[in-house]
Amino acid sequence: MSDLRDLYQELILDHGKSPRNLRNMEAPSNEADGYNPVCGDKVHLYLLLDNGVIKDACFEGSGCAISTASASMLTQAIVGKTPGEIRHLRKEVAEMLTSEPGNSKDFSSLGKLAAFSGVCEFPNRVKCATLAWHTLDSALGDDQEIVSTE
Ligand code: ZN
Repeated sequence: MSDLRDLYQELILDHGKSPRNLRNMEAPSNEADGYNPVCGDKVHLYLLLDNGVIKDACFEGSGCAISTASASMLTQAIVGKTPGEIRHLRKEVAEMLTSEPGNSKDFSSLGKLAAFSGVCEFPNRVKCATLAWHTLDSALGDDQEIVSTE
């Protein structure tokens, strides 16, 4: 288990240092700003939703390694998904981040995003990890009429 933790920590540090999809988008279909006053993390998320699927996602912003890594991995995780699939993913991530520390629930279905499973042990960092996801919520909620049966 500690090897897995090391791997997870490496992933977060790697994405925090060299974030993927850190750029702007000229004509996004959806975008939103997020701010975490507790830590000072800022993120601006750009989405390109085309034919009901996320074709491109990127972000700009500045913040701690956890918030940057979270936005970086989020943009990688949502490309190719529908808003309905993203809501499902988002729910699982929220459950992971707010679960009891030391729980034995398996979050490996979340792939790389499972790297954040250790964050629930640090309540003051949870907001850093959830910032990008809250921003995603508001980006998807903006002037987009998405019908969901969930
Ligand atoms: Zn932070």
